Amino acid sequence: MRRARREAEVAEVIVDRVACTAHGVCAVMSDGAVELDEFGYPIQSRLTLPPEEARVLVEACPARALLFRRPT
Ligand code: SF4
Repeated sequence: MRRARREAEVAEVIVDRVACTAHGVCAVMSDGAVELDEFGYPIQSRLTLPPEEARVLVEACPARALLFRRPT
């Protein structure tokens, strides 16, 4: 039970580097969790965030380049 609760408290956001078009919205909305390279692409390929924050970030990406995933 405790393990299930802990798993529910985090989610992963995966960056699809092919789909990303360097809008930079994720960096603005993540409050510093996403850092961009010199061309505007996220440096990180995945983030671990609370599920609510992860969902907001995924829905904000105009290129649909962020994928929501619960850790297995
Ligand atoms: S908001 Fe989406 S398209 Fe823009 S930099 Fe982030 S992942 Fe890429």
